[in-house]
Amino acid sequence: MTKQDDHHRGSGIARPGKVKEVTSLTNPIVKDLRSLALKKFRDQQGVFLAEGLKLVIDALDLGWTIKTLVYSKAGKGNSLVEQVAARTVAKGGDVLEVNEKIISAITRRDNPQMVVGVFQQNLQALSDIRPQGNDVFIALDRVRDPGNLGTIIRTADAAGAKGIILIGDTTDPFSLETVRATMGSVFAVPLVRATEAEFLSWRKSFTGLIVGTHLKGSVDYRTIPYANKPVVLLMGNEQQGLPDQLASSCDRLARIPQQGRADSLNLAIATGVMLFEIRRDALKLDTTN
Ligand code: SAM
Repeated sequence: MTKQDDHHRGSGIARPGKVKEVTSLTNPIVKDLRSLALKKFRDQQGVFLAEGLKLVIDALDLGWTIKTLVYSKAGKGNSLVEQVAARTVAKGGDVLEVNEKIISAITRRDNPQMVVGVFQQNLQALSDIRPQGNDVFIALDRVRDPGNLGTIIRTADAAGAKGIILIGDTTDPFSLETVRATMGSVFAVPLVRATEAEFLSWRKSFTGLIVGTHLKGSVDYRTIPYANKPVVLLMGNEQQGLPDQLASSCDRLARIPQQGRADSLNLAIATGVMLFEIRRDALKLDTTN
């Protein structure tokens, strides 16, 4: 224990010894963190940013690897921030204390959160996805909109889906916008990337039910028996819907009946409607308290 630790302990703040204070926007560490707004640099470093104290605590509890914890001066003396800082150091990560201007620049937000974590990206391999029992997985074909992807990850978490397969060229699940929209669920829902060919080949050995959603589907989504088998819910791209090859790989093509002038539902909404129907029997309100 250093003198500095002792001093902080005495003042009731368990401040780890490795905190670096950074005040300038031109500091190379800050430049590096700001570059993570771009996919190229996130991928080069294999990391991503997550904002908010609760999110960072949840991520650490779930075993995600934190590389750097950044907190603003407003977080100084906050015992939860200090605990997270100590956990980061214990895991070999760096801790930076910065001003609000720097957190704003890193997260590109006017009213930034007090805490930002830089985490190692984590994707599962498609070959490790072996749905069983009444597991539900979602497969998204070329999802383009970060808000849609984030909302779907959050909804998948809430509905108890086991993971999401991202097919083809999709928006980055680790962008600031997507992570923000997941409200922390990015840490709870396993994600997989696959090409269309890889998905079609994996599909051959999958013995459960693949339900595609299609505006030309002739089956009302509420008439399909989803229970007691693993289900993969396949959703189409926002502009083009499901391409023929993916659509024809499905066991069923379901449609959500609509009226009014809209010709389709938003992708994230359609995914939510489908998921909660598929999980109807599995989800029960706990009324015991
Ligand atoms: N122009 C696209 C098309 O023709 O398919 C619209 C795609 S829609 C915005 C995006 C995805 O949401 C669709 O591919 C489908 O997976 C799902 N979707 C939207 N509305 C739906 C509905 N009424 N029934 C079933 N799926 C729907």
